Amino acid sequence: MVDSEALGGQLNANGIDVTHENNKLDHNIVVVNTCGFIDKAKEESVNTILEQVALKRKGKLDKVYVTGCLSERYRNDLLKEIPEVDAWFGTMELPMILKQFNADYKAELIGERLLSTPKHYAYLKISEGCNRTCSFCAIPLMRGGHVSKTIEEVITEAKKLVSMGVKEIMLIAQELTYYGLDIYKKRALPDLMKHLSDIPGLQWIRLHYAYPSKFPLEILDVMRERDNICNYLDMPLQHISNNMLQAMKRQITREEITDLIANVRDRVPGICVRTTLIAGFPGETRDDVEDLKQFLVDTRLDRVGIFTYSHEENTTAHDLADNIPAEEKEARAQEIMEVQQEISYEKNQEKIGNTYKVIIDKKEAGRYLGRTEFDSVEVDNEVVIPADKPLPIGDFVNVKITKAFDYDLEGEVV
Ligand code: SF4
Repeated sequence: MVDSEALGGQLNANGIDVTHENNKLDHNIVVVNTCGFIDKAKEESVNTILEQVALKRKGKLDKVYVTGCLSERYRNDLLKEIPEVDAWFGTMELPMILKQFNADYKAELIGERLLSTPKHYAYLKISEGCNRTCSFCAIPLMRGGHVSKTIEEVITEAKKLVSMGVKEIMLIAQELTYYGLDIYKKRALPDLMKHLSDIPGLQWIRLHYAYPSKFPLEILDVMRERDNICNYLDMPLQHISNNMLQAMKRQITREEITDLIANVRDRVPGICVRTTLIAGFPGETRDDVEDLKQFLVDTRLDRVGIFTYSHEENTTAHDLADNIPAEEKEARAQEIMEVQQEISYEKNQEKIGNTYKVIIDKKEAGRYLGRTEFDSVEVDNEVVIPADKPLPIGDFVNVKITKAFDYDLEGEVV
């Protein structure tokens, strides 16, 4: 999404009219930016390319270009399979895409983006690539090693976003907590957070994808001390059983994870911890699944997402037998999420009667949908507010919670 927004910004600056997912279908060129890290994402990417190629065949489009991770990873195969695509580009070839439009890459436009999100929030990528070797993960194959942006670059981009009306920034990277080690020889996320937090008008800063091994604990002190850094941490754990963590090459043990979570909660009381898990990794036993469920019961994480394992070529896990059938992977994912659903329901019930600061994201089906600082966009809970009086989209309001469900809350403005 961020790469598409950067491409859109560069094209616009070259006088080219660009729209993300143009529903009016009055365009003549399409750039499909693909994902390629797991089977479902690859399928979605290929289907999207095929849809665009079909439109070209019918004479409704002049050109179809494809960029992004799928193209980086499978370009040689794809150009034989889908010859109607006019050109393929990898993940680092933005200037080459621009050339197809007779446009120039403008270095001075770093950080200039054509946002595809509502104007009150945006994602901000602080680094690209990853130096880890998680055995299931194809991302380093497509995105290369870790390269941090400088603090100055990130701040410039953040200030531009704020000047465009952005109030909430979600920091992303393949590995957020590695930030700075390559260019500053130290983990510099705490410093970056302080600089971001000083930007006037930036009301919420949220951390995503914080790898747990060698987690820089000072992050938590900055989070606690700064009001505009959400008490929210998205820390993908992938599993908890030591067998699985070792096979996944996660460089951390169950005991270390448990200590880290206790430490996180100790340093930032009331923090919301989100994680993502994988079900059905090669060799995962029933005991491993039970272990994971018990871990959720014991630690009562606030938010959990789960993927089923996808067997990816050229990852080290590809040498293992993908021995769990697809239906069993799905069943395990569902079983684990059922445990979390109960926990989420109980945690939400505890919120009834409390008042939270809520950002209003949109109006839908006669009601407003917003989020607290404990909820990120799309993946977390929403707060539903009746639309009996108008609320400006993107504004903050105080909402008293009146009802609570498995994953969402309902409340009224006070
Ligand atoms: S840290 Fe994340 S991006 Fe890096 S290899 Fe592991 S799962 Fe992939």
